[in-house]
Amino acid sequence: MKKRTKKNILKIFGIIIFFVLAGISSYYLDFANEEQKEETPTYSVTNKQEFNLDVEGKLQVHFIDVGQADAILVKQAEHYMLIDAGKNDTEEKVVNYLKEQKIEKFDYIVGTHAHEDHIGGLDKVIDNFEVDNILFPKQTSTTKTFESFVKSVKSKNKKLYAPVSGESFSLGDATFKVLAPNSNEYEESNDYSIVIKLTYKNKSILFMGDAEELSENEILKKGYDLKSDVIKLGHHGSRSSTSTKFLTEVSPSAAVISAGKDNDYGHPHKETMLKLQRANIPVYRTDESGTIILLSDGENISFNVKEGTYNYGR
Ligand SMILES: [Zn+2]
Repeated sequence: MKKRTKKNILKIFGIIIFFVLAGISSYYLDFANEEQKEETPTYSVTNKQEFNLDVEGKLQVHFIDVGQADAILVKQAEHYMLIDAGKNDTEEKVVNYLKEQKIEKFDYIVGTHAHEDHIGGLDKVIDNFEVDNILFPKQTSTTKTFESFVKSVKSKNKKLYAPVSGESFSLGDATFKVLAPNSNEYEESNDYSIVIKLTYKNKSILFMGDAEELSENEILKKGYDLKSDVIKLGHHGSRSSTSTKFLTEVSPSAAVISAGKDNDYGHPHKETMLKLQRANIPVYRTDESGTIILLSDGENISFNVKEGTYNYGR
């Protein structure tokens, strides 16, 4: 073999080796990138004006506009949970909204605590739908609203179930854990609120009821994993809830506030809104947007309305 040919062969061989190595290294780079992508959270809040609610295998959360009150429908496949049902004077609206969703039976109905703006509509909902489990804290009240709620529960031959902090339940492919209440007695009715962390695949939503700072501190002490993608703020965005420490621990990518337009309490309060604004947490508000629907495939979360403002009552 001539020296020149040998040199040429070596050259070609070298070039081939170079491209093979380059190919391998680029393959590894891509692979590493892909792995990194999976590690970093893929959270995004998109404001899709239109989205298809007839999709199977997804999670839906409807924050129904009931003015200065709470009424939240959670749907996973054909499994349903209702967290509160608004006031007495919007109960027809809530029942009609739920009927439009073609719900036959609720897996769970939750009354977070005894206040009228949460359990006012529960009697009518229980009268109109089948329900497997009714969760309510160990709290009593002498109000007519509470009595008619209990009457409806009894008329369906049901009993209230007071979940224990740390107890988990399943809702289709989603699960939820009860984080509060953590004491037997409270001075403030709001602190009896059942607090729920719902998890669907890689996404979590925290429902605070009207829990205030005292309850938040008890939850923090328990050492639960509080990290959630979305938080339904406690007590309609009042300054008595959402302490900085609690919000930091939850570290949400979005917050939802259920409050009435120009309500007498000045909700949401200035302190709460400034905390959200400083932390760059987008906020979705029923007083500005009406009913808010959250949709998640377990990897991404989208809302049916645009982000709200950081305006506050007082
Ligand atoms: Zn309330």
